[in-house]
Amino acid sequence: MKMPKSVKTYCKKCNSHTAHKLKLFKSGQSRSMAHGTRRNVRKHKRGYGGKAKFVIKVKKQTKKPTFLAECAVCKKKRYFVIDKRMKKVELEA
Ligand SMILES: [Zn+2]
Repeated sequence: MKMPKSVKTYCKKCNSHTAHKLKLFKSGQSRSMAHGTRRNVRKHKRGYGGKAKFVIKVKKQTKKPTFLAECAVCKKKRYFVIDKRMKKVELEA
């Protein structure tokens, strides 16, 4: 699917519809010392020999595209998610 570079959508801060710049969202590197990571490690290393790791047999083939939308007026950023799975998504030039 091709997405336009900017869309007009609601901004919480401006309390109105404004133009937003779209950018594809990529998750950052997970932190090894974050609380959730430490908790998960503890969970799997518990007991004698530890717990078996949960393995996903069938991975999802597609992702719901997530964008970062930046308001052109106040520069506030928010997530812009299309609630449909698709294989390919790109921003229009
Ligand atoms: Zn705004």
